[in-house]
Amino acid sequence: MEQPPAFSHRDSVIVVSELTKVFGNLVAVDRVSFTVKERDIFGLLGPNGSGKTTLIRMLCGILNPTSGNASVLGYDVLRESEEIKRSIGYMSQQFSLYSDLTVIENLNFYAKVYGIPKKERKGKLEEVIEIVGIKPYLNQMSGSLSGGWKQRLALACALVHSPKLLFLDEPTAGIDPVARRDLWNLLFELSARGTTFFVTTHYMDEAERCSHLGYIYFSKLIACGTPEELKRIPNVTPEGFRRHELRVERLTEAMKELLKLDFVGDATMFSDVIHVLIKEGYAEEVKIYLVRNGFNVYDLREIPPTLEDVFVSLTRSFKG
Ligand code: ADP
Ligand code: MG
Repeated sequence: MEQPPAFSHRDSVIVVSELTKVFGNLVAVDRVSFTVKERDIFGLLGPNGSGKTTLIRMLCGILNPTSGNASVLGYDVLRESEEIKRSIGYMSQQFSLYSDLTVIENLNFYAKVYGIPKKERKGKLEEVIEIVGIKPYLNQMSGSLSGGWKQRLALACALVHSPKLLFLDEPTAGIDPVARRDLWNLLFELSARGTTFFVTTHYMDEAERCSHLGYIYFSKLIACGTPEELKRIPNVTPEGFRRHELRVERLTEAMKELLKLDFVGDATMFSDVIHVLIKEGYAEEVKIYLVRNGFNVYDLREIPPTLEDVFVSLTRSFKG
């Protein structure tokens, strides 16, 4: 792959303004606006049914918006959708390769679809095979690959025409943690070589690795920024409160006790800890209260918000 040109300022690759999609009487994407710059890894998060796939399909030129505008690599999604389809890579949410073709047959098929000239095809395929490391499986039926290798093959197919911009719709859904980590390492390698990514995910550790994030909720983009910016949103940690991580026995019962206290703003239970918003200067009081009520407190310490805290707070404040 070519080295990207050195640049001091990065161009906008995706510019979205008030983009809206209505299906019958359902507003699937509601006046969404944001910008993605060259070499960003933009992560879109949000519950199922919030409009992520619909948004991606509009940006890929597959689905016409009802209103609003978007340009992708400088092309207009309405007027120049063919140019967009030719220039981007898209890995859809469903496995869309031919299960009864071998890995190499699928790759060849995609190279033809994207019009890679015959004399360049072999070299190009060798390159993507090398990038995703799928050489040992070239003659295996695609349908019989493990989840992780299916996703790598799908990624290889999305890369055959060397797109500068890749859309990945839940690329790691249903694959094991090791395959998930490997796939992300691959995305970082490609990103370092100059590829821009637009990716949807449900995983917080993946969100943490994105350079920019958007959170879509009931069809509306309710937050957008770098992970650090999102953690500083005022609603996430209200004025006068500090976020603490509490390790305590009997989490559910401890939660109930905490919420009775007026110096506790909010409490959210995770698998083995509780995140508590405690009024500044009251942490010791909380500890004493719990101990007096018969709880063993293993640890209570101040922490910055995690992305999960951010999204929990945002959805709560959105519901009002
Ligand atoms: P997500 O990817 O965030 O899970 P989707 O974009 O797939 O969400 O769906 C958003 C909403 O739009 C859902 O309520 C879904 O049922 C609806 N929807 C998606 N595609 C269509 C379609 N082609 N026709 C009608 N409704 C659709
Ligand atoms: Mg989806």
